[in-house]
Amino acid sequence: MLDHDILIVGGGLTGLRAAVGLCDRFNVGLISKVYPTRSHSIAAQGGINAALTNNPDSRDDSWEKHTFDTIKGSDFLADQDAAEIMCKEAIGIVYEMEHWGCPFSRFPDGTIAQRPFGGAGYPRTCYSADITGHVLLNTLYERAVAKGVKIYPELFVAGLCIEEGQCHGVVALDMKTGELIPVSAGVTFFGTGGYGRVYQHSTNALINTGSGIGMAYQAGLPLKDMEFVQFHPTSLIGTNILMTEGCRGEGAYLLNNQGERFMQRYVPSAMELAPRDIVSRCIQTEMDEGRGFEHPLGRYIQLDLRHLGSKKIIERLPGIRNICIDFIGIDPVLEPIPIMPCQHYSMGGIDVDKRCASELPGFYAGGECACVSVHGANRLGGNSLLDTIVFGKLGAQAIGEDLEDGVPRPDEKAILRLKDKVEEKFRRLAAPGAEKPYRIHAELGAVMNEKVGIFRTREELEQALDKLIELKRRYGDVGVSSPVRYMNYELTAALELEAMLDVSHTIILGAILREESRGAHFRTDFKTRNDGDWLKHTIARMGDDGSPVLSFKDVTITRYQPTERKY
Ligand SMILES: Cc1cc2nc3c(=O)[nH]c(=O)nc-3n(C[C@H](O)[C@H](O)[C@H](O)COP(=O)(O)OP(=O)(O)OC[C@H]3O[C@@H](n4cnc5c(N)ncnc54)[C@H](O)[C@@H]3O)c2cc1C
Repeated sequence: MLDHDILIVGGGLTGLRAAVGLCDRFNVGLISKVYPTRSHSIAAQGGINAALTNNPDSRDDSWEKHTFDTIKGSDFLADQDAAEIMCKEAIGIVYEMEHWGCPFSRFPDGTIAQRPFGGAGYPRTCYSADITGHVLLNTLYERAVAKGVKIYPELFVAGLCIEEGQCHGVVALDMKTGELIPVSAGVTFFGTGGYGRVYQHSTNALINTGSGIGMAYQAGLPLKDMEFVQFHPTSLIGTNILMTEGCRGEGAYLLNNQGERFMQRYVPSAMELAPRDIVSRCIQTEMDEGRGFEHPLGRYIQLDLRHLGSKKIIERLPGIRNICIDFIGIDPVLEPIPIMPCQHYSMGGIDVDKRCASELPGFYAGGECACVSVHGANRLGGNSLLDTIVFGKLGAQAIGEDLEDGVPRPDEKAILRLKDKVEEKFRRLAAPGAEKPYRIHAELGAVMNEKVGIFRTREELEQALDKLIELKRRYGDVGVSSPVRYMNYELTAALELEAMLDVSHTIILGAILREESRGAHFRTDFKTRNDGDWLKHTIARMGDDGSPVLSFKDVTITRYQPTERKY
């Protein structure tokens, strides 16, 4: 059995930042199912928000204004105390990353460069060309290695051990040997990322299955605000690779098949830099009303960078240009990019407070798998990278405080009992079965895409629920092709599929119940926000029959009374 004071699951920005904050005082282990620098954080492009006031147009910016933009962007569902903390911490953590060696892009005066992003009153998104996640993750990874964090790459966590109201650790599959490894820990921290791949079309890496969220839920922990799913306005047609909001931050246009900058008709004050939920709905409306372009791969809208000129495109958006050339043979210097909206981010997640603490002693979570909640019903671009590093840091601080009197002793027998259960699950999945995990996954992705998308209705959500219940039933007959345990991706996919079905169940039920439109959750049968009935967080717990049981929790309001959200 492996044993650590603190076990971190996740080698993305959240997990690495938490590990760096704890390893001087504690014996920390970090598990990641992929090599840490292959975590989805590596793919982040556009930047990280902090009110540094470096841009000549942002001299009047402040962390308070950043907080207000975040809360307004969230359609007033964010907990305001948490949003304040994040935006106040932002400035310090960007400089900390700089001091740790992160190569940000610079203004001519040498200060960290900042670009405009959607829903922000000032240009406050700090960036490194269009590879901001890459430079941040490598900086934190180097720091974690230099500080001697014990890292276990390619260990797949298959179960979270909670017994008697305490978290004792996890059971993990060593992908290289096929061995099941019990891991005991006084404290477990999840930084396991989002669930994008429950949707067929997503900008997320294939590894973003939300298995951490699902595992916490299956172990009895509540999830919060799961119905709020972010659809990014601009993904490349066909592959759905992200075309960063940084393109529009640098001045790109959105054009319909009339050659019209249609945002003029919807949000003339913000144009292409309205928040993501709004821009996605505008694009979808243009396409639904026949003003999109037709393509064998689907309908699309154009993202036009040409007027920026080749120098700016090559300097600020080199990755975007390369992706377009490599994947669809289009050079954005010469041609507009065909884009469509698709799933991008999960506002909801494991219910934790602003210290990243769950309701259960010994279990904490941060980053995209968690819901602190700083993003409410709609996250602003550039605020997620911020969330991961701020709450990785603050989660570590909170754990340090909570362990002042010593590290709790986990119950090893409880972990061995969980190991037996996981063993049994693997045996069941390895037996011949009529269903294949990939088929069920594909059907899940399709129904989430078609019925739980940008525009939602009760009728379609109920159809999605029926389909989900059918898929859950069929999951009982899943069997993988080979019983071998090492490097058997079909086996881990089968295990993760169970979590994906559970996660999707909470998204669909939350969306059915919430009879209003707020942020990214838009009900065409209830088109307006309804603070009287719905200014509250949705909490989902797994009921005895395996279905979610929903309840509600108050939103923390400090300084900003909810008003109509206008741009
Ligand atoms: C293409 C793209 C571009 C983006 N650009 C931006 C941007 O410019 N600005 C911004 O603010 N946000 C951006 N985002 C969002 C942001 O990048 C993510 O929300 C953030 O990086 C998530 O970090 P994380 O640490 O929570 O999780 P991740 O980086 O996703 O890491 C999750 C970790 O958990 C591990 N893990 C998961 N499940 C298991 C398991 N069962 N067992 C073991 N390990 C497990 C994985 O191996 C991985 O190491 C972007 C997102 C995408 C998809």
